[in-house]
Amino acid sequence: MTEYRLLLLPGDGIGPEVMREARRVLAWLSRHRGHECHLAEDLVGGAAIDVHGVPITDAVIAAARAADAVLFGAVGGPQWRHLGFDRRPEIAILRLRQDLGLFANLRPATVLDPLVDASTLKPEVVRGLDLMIVRESTGGIYFGEPRGIETLPDGSKRGINTEVYTTHEIERVGRVAADLARLRSRRLASVEKSNVMESGLLWRETITSLIARDYPDLTLEHVLADNCAMQLVRNPRQFDVIVTSNLFGDLLSDLASMCTGSLGMLPSATLGAPDAQGRRPALYEPIHGSAPDIAGKGIANPMAQILSLAMALRYSLNLPEDAALIEAACTSVLANGLRTADIMAPGCARIGTSVMGDAILRELDKSLA
Ligand code: NAD
Repeated sequence: MTEYRLLLLPGDGIGPEVMREARRVLAWLSRHRGHECHLAEDLVGGAAIDVHGVPITDAVIAAARAADAVLFGAVGGPQWRHLGFDRRPEIAILRLRQDLGLFANLRPATVLDPLVDASTLKPEVVRGLDLMIVRESTGGIYFGEPRGIETLPDGSKRGINTEVYTTHEIERVGRVAADLARLRSRRLASVEKSNVMESGLLWRETITSLIARDYPDLTLEHVLADNCAMQLVRNPRQFDVIVTSNLFGDLLSDLASMCTGSLGMLPSATLGAPDAQGRRPALYEPIHGSAPDIAGKGIANPMAQILSLAMALRYSLNLPEDAALIEAACTSVLANGLRTADIMAPGCARIGTSVMGDAILRELDKSLA
């Protein structure tokens, strides 16, 4: 019997619609794989603003700390856009990241064979792509001081942001990436701009000595960020695990996600530092937003949410076989020609959110046979 505690935060828009399908997969795991899953669920984002006046309450933060993992949907929508920047639904994610110390954002870019034509890149370039970008997510230029907009003596203005990294921040995200590389192909690419930025030079030196000291079994490569962007479009399969800063990770992970061609398919994870028992705080979420344009229509693709659950099973709950079952079920459904509207292709059958959930459960049932 495997016992774990999950906190589900569906959020707004299509968040609750896709979370419903992930919940059905969790129920299947309890029924057929002996999981004893203690599920809690709460409001977050605009849904929490409407009830509590804030995008996330202290009670939800406490519940997130107590859980083995948090499965997050998506937040935001036009009805909350009039609110000040610091009261918007999206603040919920920032608070969770800050309060739980979630510093390593894992963004896989995987091209499943049946979707090889969904990318705007040629099939021969992206077929079989299985890449993991590890982005530092609580430091760097988005948080560095000084920052702001100041007025100069001549009345014109100056905008300032500062890229700052310490060896500690670089090492801890480097370790997450190196541990992942050990589980995969043992190849790690570290990305910075050490040719023009001191913080990039420190990044390169710190990663070099971390790998030499603690991960001598890995092959480390250094890539300048601009070259990395170019290489991701030219030949993305040359990379396996990439580790990089907040700013470059933001750009490169969006670029890599487009190699796969479909927002509704992509999960992500954000991890914190392990405690004395080795338990890491962790949040799993699709990379897409709340998609207000299709919310309530029952047509959202639930796969990114369900694959986020698979990531939670693999990286937080130490259940890689269950993760692999879910991933295989999703691939089979696609291979059978079933598609939600966002990944529709000629000759395939167009289905909605809950029918996609049914199809994934059917494939999971087949795996028992
Ligand atoms: P979005 O990802 O919500 O939608 C972009 C496009 O992709 C839309 O056309 C949408 O219909 C489509 N899409 C997204 N997910 C889909 C799915 N699962 N199935 C089918 N189609 C899907 O991005 P946006 O429109 O820029 O943002 C909408 C709202 O979501 C905003 O309020 C934004 O702030 C918020 N947002 C939240 C998160 C988050 O909660 N982590 C992330 C990004 C955006």
